[in-house]
This record gives sequence, C-alpha cells and structure tokens, in this order.
Amino acid sequence: MKQLKTAVIGVGHLGRFHAQKYAQLSQLQGVYDANPARSAEVAQELGCRAFTSVAELLAEVDAVSIATPTSTHFAVAEMAMQAGVHCLVEKPFTLDTDEADALITMAQERHLVLAVGHIKRVHPAILHLRQAGYGAPRYLEAERLAPFKPRSLDIDVIMDLMIHDLDLTLLLTGAEPVDVRAVGVAAVTDKADMANAWLTLNNGTVANLAASRVVREPARRMRIFWQDRYASVDFMNNTLHIYHRGEGMVPGIPGVRDEAVGLPKKDALASEIEDFLQAVATGKAVFCDGIAGRRVLAAALQVRTAVDHFLNR
Ligand code: NAD
Repeated sequence: MKQLKTAVIGVGHLGRFHAQKYAQLSQLQGVYDANPARSAEVAQELGCRAFTSVAELLAEVDAVSIATPTSTHFAVAEMAMQAGVHCLVEKPFTLDTDEADALITMAQERHLVLAVGHIKRVHPAILHLRQAGYGAPRYLEAERLAPFKPRSLDIDVIMDLMIHDLDLTLLLTGAEPVDVRAVGVAAVTDKADMANAWLTLNNGTVANLAASRVVREPARRMRIFWQDRYASVDFMNNTLHIYHRGEGMVPGIPGVRDEAVGLPKKDALASEIEDFLQAVATGKAVFCDGIAGRRVLAAALQVRTAVDHFLNR
C-alpha cells in the first residue's frame, strides 16, 4: 500500500483532506485542480507536485481520488480509467445512472477498482449496528441539517446530504424502495435546499428522511426501530444509545434498558482511503463499490422525481 503512487483530482474543501491522507498512506505524487492557485497551495502544503493537466497526472499514478464537483465526476473518472488508473470517486457517484453504468462497465472490463466515497458506512455507530446483527429495521428516521455553504451547488440537497441517509437505509435493510414520496423547497438556490422523503422498501421497512442545507443549527441524527429495540445515533457527537425492550428500567419507562455504546474515535476518511488502497494492492472488495454507489444514486433520483413533482404541481 505504502508503495502505491497516488494523486488527487480536485483539491477544494474535501480533496485537500484526501491528499493529506494519501500523503500518510501512500506515495502522493501530486494534485490537480482546475484552479491552479489552489493546486499550488495544496501541493506546497504537502510537498508534492502541482500538476498542470489531468493527463500529466494520470501518467504518473496507480490510483486517484476524484473530489471535483459531481457534474464532472463522469468525465474525470472516464479519463482516469482510460489511462488504467484505479478510482475513488466522491459521492454522489455521478449525475445519473447512465453515467454510473458506463463507469461500472469500464471498471469491470479493465479490472480496475472503482470505489464511491459513501463515508458514513464506516461510522463506528453503523459498524456497531451492522455487527450486532439485529436484522432489517421496521422503521427509521433521519435528520441531516447543515448551515448554508457555497459548495456543491451543482447538486440539490438530496444528492448533497440526504444521499448519506438513503445509503445507510439501503445498507441496513438490504432492500429497495418501492414507493417514494417526497416534498422539497428551493430556499436559497434554484434547486431543492430542503427535502423530506417517505420511502417504503420492498421488505416493508419505512424510512422518513429529512435534509436541509439552509438551517442555523446543524444536526445529523438517525433513529432506527426494530421489534424489540431502537437505536439513536448522533453522528455529529459520535454517540449511540440502544434501548432494549423487556430488560431493565430507564427512569420513567419500565422494562426498557438504555445501552450507551462506547464508540471509538475514528478518522473515517483515512479508513475509506486505506480500504481503497488495500483493494488496489490486494484485489479485496471495497466497502462501497460502483454498484453500491449506483444503487443509492437511483434511490436519490427517485426522491428527486417526487420532489420535482411536488414543486411543479
Ligand atoms: P469544492 O468546491 O470545495 O471543491 C471542488 C474543487 O474541484 C474546486 O477546488 C474546483 O476548482 C475543482 N474543480 C472543478 N472542476 C474541476 C475539474 N474538472 N478538474 C479538476 N478540478 C476541478 O467542493 P467539495 O466540498 O470539496 O466537494 C467535492 C466533491 O466531494 C463533491 O462531489 C461533493 O459532493 C463531495 N463531498 C463529499 C462529502 C462526503 O461526506 N463524502 C462531503 C463534502 C463533499
């Protein structure tokens, strides 16, 4: 892993962090950004090259992260794979499922690793709940609320924020949406900046997801309900409580035990990049591949269609 030659394409807010992790975990050759001043700044910080074109960068590396705006993911990843370079593409994978399908096919034909950056999959609370083996939840609800930032404005709040909770919903249930209802509002940009979706999955699970990128008080929470227990996750504060029915006593609620799970502090981005580099080095599967990235993209597009229907009614 340490010997792999890597680079990052797009070193804005998130790409800079990718480059920092590659500098620790591999041989970071350099970075490229459409804004040359930004490439130079990040290259200087990390003591690597500021490439002046994507083609020049691709000639030097085994693997790249693509952390450019979503509208460019397809073109950049296609170019990288044509050059035989393994790709970790930031989420959301692509703008539509045709682009996603084309990249998946290319990766399969060329035997390249194609990972998608659905980083919440490695959150310690989600890892704990998956290992606990409680099965598919009956109901889950999530809020992902963020103050406005002038980034990712090429996409709506569904692709920007709600997609994280859609991904966790599909991951925790292994099921597919069969009925999707949603509302949304364009508050600041010309796209939905707030959305609320109600999804019924083909195993009967119901998910109620709220996302906004125009709130004053941020929140990133999920509550997950099974027959005999419910889990409350606070992603921002890294806490997980599991309330078990029929055992013990929560003050005021007889027959319920509060299990406060101690979660390890984890550098999720380092874990994601390490997982990607291991896949490149050893051929092991990545924790989120192109097919998983496409699956959640398709669900997000269903929410988008419902929101568009609401906005144009
Ligand atoms: P940003 O605007 O801060 O950075 C994007 C950078 O890409 C800019 O520096 C821009 O100059 C550069 N760029 C634009 N077009 C380019 C091109 N064709 N080639 C090279 N560079 C190009 O945005 P960001 O917040 O860093 O988001 C980048 C990506 O990461 C988006 O896809 C976004 O959805 C994703 N993201 C994921 C998470 C997560 O939780 N996994 C969080 C934030 C952003």
